[in-house]
Amino acid sequence: RRRPMTAPRNTIGPVATSPATPVALRIAGLSKSYGTTPVLHDIDLDVRRAETLCLIGPSGSGKSTLLKCLNLLEQPGAGDIWLGETCLTAPHADVDAARARIGMVFQHFNLFPHMSVERNVTLALTSVKGMGREQARVVARRHLDHVGLAAFADQRPGRLSGGQQQRVAIARALAMEPELMLFDEATSALDPELVKDVLAVMRDLASGGMTMAVVTHEMGFAREAADRVAFMCDGRIAEIDTPDRIFERADHPRLRQFLSQVL
Ligand code: ADP
Ligand code: MG
Repeated sequence: RRRPMTAPRNTIGPVATSPATPVALRIAGLSKSYGTTPVLHDIDLDVRRAETLCLIGPSGSGKSTLLKCLNLLEQPGAGDIWLGETCLTAPHADVDAARARIGMVFQHFNLFPHMSVERNVTLALTSVKGMGREQARVVARRHLDHVGLAAFADQRPGRLSGGQQQRVAIARALAMEPELMLFDEATSALDPELVKDVLAVMRDLASGGMTMAVVTHEMGFAREAADRVAFMCDGRIAEIDTPDRIFERADHPRLRQFLSQVL
């Protein structure tokens, strides 16, 4: 029903973080202020191809702002972002072309309520990628099938549960064949019993080799699915390491404090 795993998790992990693996996303010296209030301070971060990076940290630490800067929903104040070989922050960068290479899933699903589930998925395929309507339908059905929702293709999103809507949002993003997927608290607005199906889809993606940056409060997901976990605090990456070292051997006082509150 779902995309088959291409390799067991424990073989992807080291590959995804090895210096020999190409860098999929490079953030260098990224700073951002809202008005005169600085919220991101000189962030450097590489995410390698097929890596799953989880971003954790207290509310207000800048996690969402960092993700928004990555697809230029927010304009960075300083620093550079590369997606593969493309510098997104170069003066004449093609922002729309860059955005089409990045999938983003938010807390609120932002599906169009007046369109069918299938049309929600085909919309960007036809309008951004210029794909023919019939081909787009085939692609949409395949991705809806992967998230277990092919049977809902003709329904309006309002007929689906929150968890199902979020899986449609994931299918919509994946249909664009992004190089990088960004998730911002994709399960935070869901009723607890609906969270696990969405996390299962995200886990499959991670183990299937997608490059992912995932802001999450689901520490179980971060522990199991992440290659690395970054702890953000006051607009900086205060710690970044394997889940094992972040969760078992954290010595950063703010990280220990944070984990003691959420675990
Ligand atoms: P997180 O996602 O970790 O909770 P955010 O990136 O949302 O953190 O916010 C970081 C800081 O920036 C917070 O102090 C927040 O209040 C502030 N902030 C976020 N968005 C805006 C905005 N659009 N305008 C002004 N301040 C903002
Ligand atoms: Mg946030």
